[in-house]
Amino acid sequence: MTELLSLYPDELEALLVSVGEPKYRAKQIFPQLHRGLTPEMMTNIGKTTCERLASVASWHFPTIRRKLVSAIDGTVKYLLEMEDGACVEAVVMKYKHGNTVCISSQVGCRMGCRFCASTIGGRVRNLSAGEILGEVITVQKDLGSERLSGIVMMGIGEPLDNYDQVIRFLRLVSHENGICIGLRHISLSTCGLVDKIYQLTEEDLPITLSISLHAADDETRSSIMPINNRWKIAQLLAACKNWFEKTGRRISFEYTLIAGKNDSPESARKLAELLNRSLRTRTEGMPIHVNLIPVNEVQETGFVRAADRAVQKFAQILEERGIRATVRRTLGADINASCGQLRREEAAKKAAASKK
Ligand code: SAH
Repeated sequence: MTELLSLYPDELEALLVSVGEPKYRAKQIFPQLHRGLTPEMMTNIGKTTCERLASVASWHFPTIRRKLVSAIDGTVKYLLEMEDGACVEAVVMKYKHGNTVCISSQVGCRMGCRFCASTIGGRVRNLSAGEILGEVITVQKDLGSERLSGIVMMGIGEPLDNYDQVIRFLRLVSHENGICIGLRHISLSTCGLVDKIYQLTEEDLPITLSISLHAADDETRSSIMPINNRWKIAQLLAACKNWFEKTGRRISFEYTLIAGKNDSPESARKLAELLNRSLRTRTEGMPIHVNLIPVNEVQETGFVRAADRAVQKFAQILEERGIRATVRRTLGADINASCGQLRREEAAKKAAASKK
């Protein structure tokens, strides 16, 4: 059945007309729905309209299954449950310049990155555009008067592996009559589905692209990210260059520092050389920004966080070579706010309960 929350305004209008309702109802329903009201809750929508809609469409907002608030920095982590019981995570990070929500695009993930908790059980299913939007709406409702001002698609899942629904979500969440978060305040992070990066370049969506690079040579990258067996680093960076040339929008690179794997000064020099060579011409080029993330230790992966000293040195080497490097602050350390861990905990609990 059609999911109401996944529809563009003109599709909602067509659906209403198909059940004998006037067009203008779409203008009444769309903004209220995106504020988190179901049709039954809308005071200007009658029972007949609701019944007619219910005969062709369904509506559901994710519910909050668990909520953890960090005592250190106010980061809020949500375990959100979808209509079928599937759970994903969303995290609100509070910065001086506003609140940013990190959301999930799939239930689980099939990319297999070896340091990541979200991929351990594989991909269960894709989320629909309405479910992804539902994450933002449910979180915004819970925050009350504190407005969400930005979104990062860095939660569970690979957004470009759920391309059509993610594009639809981006258009819906930025719609002027909806929750209206500007595309310029949205980042999409990908492990590097090169064909989809080319496709995204043509969508004319002024979002920020984040690339999970994590290594400066193919051998190291392939050993931690299976996607590198499909597309090599050179192909990925060519897609990045094309993105910058066509959209003029910068790209930021994520680099997870793993002790003894990719955190040496030599790796830093290699990374700087690679990015400068691949993305800059002699006179100009894209501003390059690398976000360094000391790996979050996940029990199952056995990877160890790089030492603070190694992280600082790594950043310094990049900066000396003209690459802006920032070290990601750890937020919500006391609530295990990093990717995928809460969902795994919940799944383990369920499994234990069913064995009893
Ligand atoms: N699939 C997308 C988005 C989700 S992951 C992607 O790969 O970009 C968001 C970021 O967190 C990615 O850069 C990912 O590589 C990183 N990440 C995953 N597990 C991590 C861990 N244990 N420690 C640090 N960063 C991690």
